Amino acid sequence: MPETASYRKVDLHTHSTRSDGRLSPTELVDLAVEQDVSLFALTDHDTLDGLVEASQRAAEHGLSFINGVELSTQWNGIPLHMVALNFTSDNSALLSIVEKNQMIRLDRARRIADLLVKQGLPDLYDEAVALAGKSQLGRPHFASLLVEKGFVKDGNKAFDRYLGNKHLGQLRDVWPELEGVLNSLSGQNIELILAHPKRYPLTVTKLKRLLTDFKKWGGTGMEVASGNERPDSVRLLERLSAEFDLKASVGSDYHGPFGPWMQVGKYTQIHETKVDLVWQTWG
Ligand code: AMP
Ligand code: MN
Ligand code: MN
Ligand code: MN
Repeated sequence: MPETASYRKVDLHTHSTRSDGRLSPTELVDLAVEQDVSLFALTDHDTLDGLVEASQRAAEHGLSFINGVELSTQWNGIPLHMVALNFTSDNSALLSIVEKNQMIRLDRARRIADLLVKQGLPDLYDEAVALAGKSQLGRPHFASLLVEKGFVKDGNKAFDRYLGNKHLGQLRDVWPELEGVLNSLSGQNIELILAHPKRYPLTVTKLKRLLTDFKKWGGTGMEVASGNERPDSVRLLERLSAEFDLKASVGSDYHGPFGPWMQVGKYTQIHETKVDLVWQTWG
């Protein structure tokens, strides 16, 4: 098979222990190599912490590595994730967004703990902070504690019963507005990708409104395949990628070995000829 961009095994959405993933950046890169990935990005939630370690390890393996981060934002009161790719880690606009989001995470965690206390659970804040350690603190840390203490059977139940967006009320609106985030990052040759567009509570009509705004505010791409997405969703996203002139990105959104599907480099197959690939111009 010729060594062209479209034959590469690409994964541009993954998590390490610097946010809510299970593997260290080094272990994650090792796994990517084991899975024959040849173009790889680490995209932890709201932090650039793992990028140096991961890129050094990637260099040792000769794996092409792209700096990434998954930023928490909101649009019309809906929490949305966007993945920024291919930046240099001294980008001041990006560092400022990341720093703000880290403060929001701490403050939100205090309020999440209060919300759980109101439902009769113990105050888990200190333990959640301790569990996260140097990682970005998030709902998965609360979920782990709820499982460990026997309040729920597994992480999914923790989200179903306590931590899912429908339980968060006003805590959904803590993140910076998508418009401002895109405005401050656009025009700098960074790829600004809407993450997993099918995972939001949006009809196709509303999703199209989001894509219109996303493009207008400087977004450059969208994930057309994210992990274990249904093939018909991926077909829809391929069409929308072409319609809205947003480059196509792909990623496993790997967090750790949960279930048979989850693997670095694994996501529903895309039709690469129907879209402009975000990595095509990276050389
Ligand atoms: P946070 O960044 O604190 O808002 O937490 C969001 C993270 O929680 C996501 O990136 C997922 O890794 C995880 N998550 C979201 N929904 C669920 C769910 N239903 N079950 C398990 N994990 C989830
Ligand atoms: Mn996550
Ligand atoms: Mn996400
Ligand atoms: Mn993710």
